[in-house]
Amino acid sequence: MIPIWIILVASVVVGLTALYLLRLAVATTRTIASGRQEHRRLRRQLMREASMCPDCGYTVRVATDRCPECGSLAYSTDAGDGD
Ligand SMILES: [Zn+2]
Repeated sequence: MIPIWIILVASVVVGLTALYLLRLAVATTRTIASGRQEHRRLRRQLMREASMCPDCGYTVRVATDRCPECGSLAYSTDAGDGD
């Protein structure tokens, strides 16, 4: 016969381990999502600085709010003002 205190201790240990693993999974997911978001932001910034559409990579040579290739509104004309 298994003593009741062993069952209680095992239940607590299993419960705490499950909570720990759940929190670890949530933290890992948030870290990965944050890293992907930062990577995407940096990529878009670099592509804008290179006068490229951040969505399709088309080189935008004229001042416009839209990419002439894909029509993306995300393109900003800030990069061409450096005279
Ligand atoms: Zn485009």
